[in-house]
Amino acid sequence: MIQITMPLNFLGTVYREIRQALVDMGEMFGLLEQPAEVNDKDNAADLQVKGGEIRFENIHFGYYHERPILNGLDLSVPAGGSLAIVGPSGAGKSTIGRLLFRFYDVNSGALKIDGQDVRDITQQSLHDAIGVVPQDTVLFNDTVGYNIAYGRDDATHADVIEAAKAAKIHDFIMGLPEGYDTQVGERGLKLSGGEKQRVGIARTLLKNPPILLLDEATSALDTETESSIQASLSEMGQGRTVLTIAHRLSTVADADEIIVLEGGQVSERGTHDELLALKGRYSSMWDRQRAEEEVA
Ligand code: ADP
Ligand code: MG
Repeated sequence: MIQITMPLNFLGTVYREIRQALVDMGEMFGLLEQPAEVNDKDNAADLQVKGGEIRFENIHFGYYHERPILNGLDLSVPAGGSLAIVGPSGAGKSTIGRLLFRFYDVNSGALKIDGQDVRDITQQSLHDAIGVVPQDTVLFNDTVGYNIAYGRDDATHADVIEAAKAAKIHDFIMGLPEGYDTQVGERGLKLSGGEKQRVGIARTLLKNPPILLLDEATSALDTETESSIQASLSEMGQGRTVLTIAHRLSTVADADEIIVLEGGQVSERGTHDELLALKGRYSSMWDRQRAEEEVA
């Protein structure tokens, strides 16, 4: 009996792990197809997170050889710091997130977290260290409590409540017909975009990762909801390393550093004020978005 159930349990864990990674990635990675398998090295060690410093060193990458996406990308986010990536659609911003998760291996260059090359560490430990808030948080057809606890088998109800309070969704949940036991998702109560994002934030807080990846986390929300979610995301970023991929520039103005990605390379870098003073790409994108907002 033991011989049979042990491998099955093991497979269950692996399956859950993969499924969670795919769910978290869903919208953000917009994975058109399952990426080619990336395997752990035989002697792969677990990632030892010290502060969560991220470095992309001279990265070249393309999904196909004949079409390079990143051409010598250099970027770094100091431990506990924040970096925002902006740039035109299709520039390769989400690709940077996929590489951080090692869904693909780079063609050349190196990607390191606290000095450890992602190719040398276990994917499980890498995925454990990174929390993702995607554009659209995926909800399962289950209770709202399950949806928050998802991915943390050992979470107690008290942990779930604490995370929900921090994500400012606890009061809303308490007002639901069955509180934390209310069914949500396609076949249950449909939550608004902002409420779903708060469930996603609570889920990520519960995971408590040292590194956060926000890929256009608020771009599907109206401006008012966006600013309140933005405040919760900034709070969640305290004491963590944060990589933000942004569409609306208003959401990245506070980042320690902003880079503009164009032609697979960094075309401008600096703080919001420095980039505005540069009067280049960033500043024209900023002016255009301000004009669009005024029209709206
Ligand atoms: P961004 O997030 O900046 O809008 P992406 O990183 O998603 O851009 O995509 C960069 C380029 O790579 C795009 O031209 C896109 O079509 C292409 N691409 C994205 N994912 C894949 C994939 N899985 N296979 C092949 N090409 C892809
Ligand atoms: Mg993208």
